[in-house]
Amino acid sequence: MSEKKKAGIIGSGIAGLAMAVRLAAKGYEVTVFEASDRVGGKLHEFWDGPYRFDFGPSLFTMPHLVEELFELQKVPLDSNFEYHSLPIICKYFWDDGTQTTTFADLQKTIETLAKDLSESPDKLEEHFSQSKKKYDLVGKTFLEHSLHRWKTWLTGSVANALLHLPQLDVFKTMHQANVKRFANSKTVQLFDRYATYNGSNPYKAPGLLNIIPHFEYGYGAHLPKKGMYQITQSIHHYALNLGVKFELNSKVTAIDRLHSSKIKGLTLESGSSYDFDVVVSNMDAYYTYNELLKDREKAAKLLKQERSSSALIFYWGIDRSFPQFDLHNILFSKDYEREFDHIGKGELYDDPTVYIHITSKYLPEDAPEGHENWFTMINAPYNNGQQDWEEMIKVAREKIIQKISNQIGFDLTKYIQTETIVDPRTIENKTLSYTGSLYGTSSNDQWAAFARHPNQSPQYSNLYFIGGSVHPGGGIPLCLLSAKIVDDLITQE
Ligand SMILES: Cc1cc2nc3c(=O)[nH]c(=O)nc-3n(C[C@H](O)[C@H](O)[C@H](O)COP(=O)(O)OP(=O)(O)OC[C@H]3O[C@@H](n4cnc5c(N)ncnc54)[C@H](O)[C@@H]3O)c2cc1C
Repeated sequence: MSEKKKAGIIGSGIAGLAMAVRLAAKGYEVTVFEASDRVGGKLHEFWDGPYRFDFGPSLFTMPHLVEELFELQKVPLDSNFEYHSLPIICKYFWDDGTQTTTFADLQKTIETLAKDLSESPDKLEEHFSQSKKKYDLVGKTFLEHSLHRWKTWLTGSVANALLHLPQLDVFKTMHQANVKRFANSKTVQLFDRYATYNGSNPYKAPGLLNIIPHFEYGYGAHLPKKGMYQITQSIHHYALNLGVKFELNSKVTAIDRLHSSKIKGLTLESGSSYDFDVVVSNMDAYYTYNELLKDREKAAKLLKQERSSSALIFYWGIDRSFPQFDLHNILFSKDYEREFDHIGKGELYDDPTVYIHITSKYLPEDAPEGHENWFTMINAPYNNGQQDWEEMIKVAREKIIQKISNQIGFDLTKYIQTETIVDPRTIENKTLSYTGSLYGTSSNDQWAAFARHPNQSPQYSNLYFIGGSVHPGGGIPLCLLSAKIVDDLITQE
């Protein structure tokens, strides 16, 4: 009987968990090494008194990418993975009293935006259909395949995409494309915001990123029935059922070479070493090169790509409920361009766009009756090591409370019962993400997609890369796709 092949995975983020399931389903003996004492990376939860909070992601699209993991086994195991599909996608508020709402029902969204923002329904229709068209033209080819294989480039779909290059808005920024289409600057702002879904700046990112609304309106927005953490929790349980071993509190400190083009295995901080046929890194690609391979030259090269933005989050237990808010709420800044200018300079803007995410609207057990759990977030620059975060957080907290209080019509302060604060330094330390970037590298220039690190090492044939810092990029769906691409690459090998 031939012995099972062995795979070692560094990190148990969403991509590491998906990879573990995929390799176990392929018949590999899989071990996942996780530096912290829990699985999930940025996708974990915590309680603050009677309030439950998801630490990181709040928006869940493309659930089929999770569901397909549960179908990899011929006899699918009971996944327990259930979610609400949201009828309301997001509520938007401006300081001048303008409000609007977007819905899963695209026609209703178009009618509502047209009415609330005096926008042309035809232009809105055109925007959503262009978003879908962009996805159909390039999404499948470029997001689901390695860009570093000739096979990808030789498919008919690439030729088709190249023929439609002008419609892809590659040479315009997102903002330029949106300004050209919409009459109202508020509609422009609403659609520019999609750049932040991968930590980019709409005034720099290519118009191709107008593909992102299709993720939300084409595939819907969802909330797992036990919160976002249920995504990683259910994949973790599934992996355990498939026989995957998880070594927690096990920081990998070296990737060991067999020879100049093959990896032998991994060494942990404890000094223990393990041999593997295949090694997959789900840790930040910069750290993988700098710390584990000690390849400072390659690590420095990776730093030439701009990092994505980070976040400042106030997790507030609120002693009151607010019927005007839904699960996802945005309170826009007056001057979006200045806000991004500040983030680009490593600063926080004094009128930031505030995102309030309240899972207790759908999951009543997340807060006591009559109370709410507010995940209140603003986009923040990544940690460049020079900022005075304590001072910046103090000022931002006041401005955010002021902005929300103006919107609700009274002082929010006395309703804040519990508070936990997370800033880019915490994100960096807790999830070992270089500079605390939420999504690895940004898409702030049109070549960013091609500059992201590939999913297979150009040097070591049995070393692979997955997760937010490599192709196809950050965010839950793309991280899941990175594991799918590596699954295909290993099959081809
Ligand atoms: C505040 C916030 C909000 C976000 N909002 C959204 C959202 O709404 N929607 C969305 O889709 N995405 C969102 N994201 C982005 C999303 O969370 C990430 O893109 C995704 O979770 C990254 O997953 P990953 O697989 O790259 O691994 P990560 O989650 O980065 O996990 C990597 C894991 O590797 C471990 N590790 C690192 N180095 C080592 C080592 N040497 N040895 C052992 N283990 C190691 C770490 O401890 C960690 O557990 C958000 C992120 C944050 C922080």
